[in-house]
Formats: sequence, structure tokens, C-alpha cells
Amino acid sequence: MKNGKIIVFSAPSGSGKTTIVHYLMSQIKNLHFSISATSRTARGNEINGKDYFFLTPDEFRAKIQNNEFIEFEEVYTNKFYGTLKTQVENQLQRGENVVLDIDVKGGINIKHLYKEKALTVFIQPPDIETLRNRLLKRGTDSIEVINNRIEKAEYEITFASQFDKIIINDILENAQTEALNIVRKFLNEA
Ligand code: 5GP
Repeated sequence: MKNGKIIVFSAPSGSGKTTIVHYLMSQIKNLHFSISATSRTARGNEINGKDYFFLTPDEFRAKIQNNEFIEFEEVYTNKFYGTLKTQVENQLQRGENVVLDIDVKGGINIKHLYKEKALTVFIQPPDIETLRNRLLKRGTDSIEVINNRIEKAEYEITFASQFDKIIINDILENAQTEALNIVRKFLNEA
């Protein structure tokens, strides 16, 4: 069986990336989510083993020591996130296409590792004010966390040009259609 391919979506928090990734998985049959590990605590409706593998900082550190990650980043101070080798490699070997929802630096690292086997897509918010409003509306984070994320977003946008594709998420439906077309094309290529 042919090995699967990797599609990476990176974006500042609140860019609509997760919504777009869920949409793609509902539209493309053989597209599966890579569950990352994180040392942050679960939000309201998140499920361990589905949204993330939630680890203690010590457990996360042990996995770093054991070289269990393809890539990992300290995305926020003391909050680690990482792509597990076993997750992705097993999925690819089963012939599954794998979609990663990871931070900007992680996305760039994956591209360096997997080259033409990976497609990297950057989802860009139309502007910072829109981003702030989206984060406020989501209501899952404190003002302090939101301000932190905005500051980080401004920095992350400077990396957009290192991605294979950039999608500006102004109108969600358009961004979803664009993402679907881009991913379908990549998956159909030999
Ligand atoms: P959140 O806390 O909102 O779920 O995620 C924060 C950020 O961490 C998001 O940009 C998300 O894409 C990123 N992230 C999630 N998993 C991984 C991972 O395995 N590796 C890296 N580098 N970033 C990740």
C-alpha cells in the first residue's frame, strides 16, 4: 500500500484553522487528524486522546528525553506541544493522509523533514483586530492570555512566506473551499 501524505495547517490562534481542518476531514475520506501531545491542561470540552494527549510537564519531558517527538515547541511559556513519531509514522504506514494542526515553527520543521511528502498551509487572519474579536468571542481564554496570543500572532505572521500556501481567512466559506481545492490537488498528485 502507498504511504500517506502530510498536510500541515499553521496559523495564529483564532485564525479559524481548527474549523477549516475539521471541515476538510468531513469532506475528504482518507484524511486523519494527528493527535499531538501537550503539557497544557484541557479546556472545557476537550477529550484526552482525541483532541490532545494531555501530559504533565514531567511526562512531556520524559518523552523529549526518549526522542519520541518528530518536533516539539514551547508554544507558550511552560506550555509544550509536540507531534509524536508513533502517531504520524503509523498513520502514514497505514496509507492514511495525516493532517497536523501545529504552530508555525513546528510547521516549518515538518516541511524540512518531509519535503515534498508534506504540504504546508498558513491560515492568515485578515487583520489583528478581527483576530482579537474572534478570540474574545470564543470566550475560552482570559484577557491576559488573549493579549499574549495577539502579540504572538503578529510575530507568527512574519513566517507566512515560508509556507507552501497562504490562505487568508476573511470569509470562512471561501477559505474552506480554497483549502479543500488545495488539499485535494496535493493528494491527487503522485
Ligand atoms: P491550543 O492551546 O490553542 O490548542 O494550541 C496552541 C498552539 O499550539 C496552536 O497554534 C496549535 O496549532 C499548536 N500546536 C498543537 N499541537 C502542536 C504540536 O504538536 N506541535 C507544535 N509545534 N505546535 C502544536
